[in-house]
Amino acid sequence: MSNLAMVVGCDEKPFNQKITDEESLRLIKKAGFSKVFLSWNTNGWGATQENMYTLCRALNLKIVFAHLGYRGTHLISNIWKNTNDGDKLVDYIIKDIKELAYHNIKIAVMHTSKSSEEPILCEIGIERFKKIVKACEKYKVTLALENTKWSGTLEYIFDNIQSEYLRVCYDCGHDHLHFKDSFNFDRFKGKIVATHIHDNDQRDDQHLLPFDGNINWNTIIKKLKDADYVNELTCESNYRYGYQIAKPFKFFKEAYKRLEILNKMLKEKQD
Ligand SMILES: [Zn+2]
Repeated sequence: MSNLAMVVGCDEKPFNQKITDEESLRLIKKAGFSKVFLSWNTNGWGATQENMYTLCRALNLKIVFAHLGYRGTHLISNIWKNTNDGDKLVDYIIKDIKELAYHNIKIAVMHTSKSSEEPILCEIGIERFKKIVKACEKYKVTLALENTKWSGTLEYIFDNIQSEYLRVCYDCGHDHLHFKDSFNFDRFKGKIVATHIHDNDQRDDQHLLPFDGNINWNTIIKKLKDADYVNELTCESNYRYGYQIAKPFKFFKEAYKRLEILNKMLKEKQD
């Protein structure tokens, strides 16, 4: 089984433009992928997730992780606020963790804040993350927190919570756009269990295919290798913008081809 995976949406709004999530999934399989990750911004595991999960099984696509996301009063920014919405959000997340365990999905990826709102790092947030991590330990699902726009958030959480079920999802697009590729790999060495691989030209979080922006892939792959990253290279690019000039299948095929190049680079660096 190859070490490459592609994102697929599980939402009321399809992840890729002009194509349903089901169609995306079939084309991902056809393009050569044997693994996917599910991404949603709904309020918890529901019929949409169940449907995509069933289709993944039918197509023999392994789900490497689920990217949890919430809307409305359950936005992730509430986790740092002294409100009931923050507590309710924790309940939602724990419910999802339980669903993932039931469906044999071993990693849950989550943001730690909203990109448009800098979190005020505080004890109440830590207590909530502790509660989530405790549920992860109980259900044996690893929580992988993603580097987003605000510096210091991951460090603050990891300084305050130690658990083998608390890990990192490294998003190279966010690192490139918001931090000029300065992610502290030394601090999180051995702790990165998931990746979001996509590109941008540092003007916006464009989620382009690798090599279509200006990320230096040689450097990123070397840093991942040095940080002992061994899991899948997991593409989080979207079929939108100029990609729509061509048919979606061509996009997924291209995604596979480019990830294969990165995977080869990773392997070469590991030898
Ligand atoms: Zn991401």
